[in-house]
Amino acid sequence: MLWDAGIRLMFEQAFLSVIRSKKKPDKCPECGSWRIAGILYGMLSDSPRLHRDLDAGKIVLGGSVVTDNPPAWQCVNYAFRTWHRCFSEC
Ligand SMILES: [Zn+2]
Repeated sequence: MLWDAGIRLMFEQAFLSVIRSKKKPDKCPECGSWRIAGILYGMLSDSPRLHRDLDAGKIVLGGSVVTDNPPAWQCVNYAFRTWHRCFSEC
């Protein structure tokens, strides 16, 4: 399922606390899954590698509209649990 980044951000702010992390999280606190995917934004070229990574759950698509501070990672099981990357101190 593809979630528009803006809608996801609204849900996240309404129901879930924003979590910031410097690196890709190991585990989802909501469902306990170890499957955390990086979120790719923008218009992507169709490629075998993209499909492979999508199928493997390594990446998910964040949509072509990029908000100011989009989340960087997402739980594969639970799309509303996302993490924001922080570049200095969290
Ligand atoms: Zn989860």
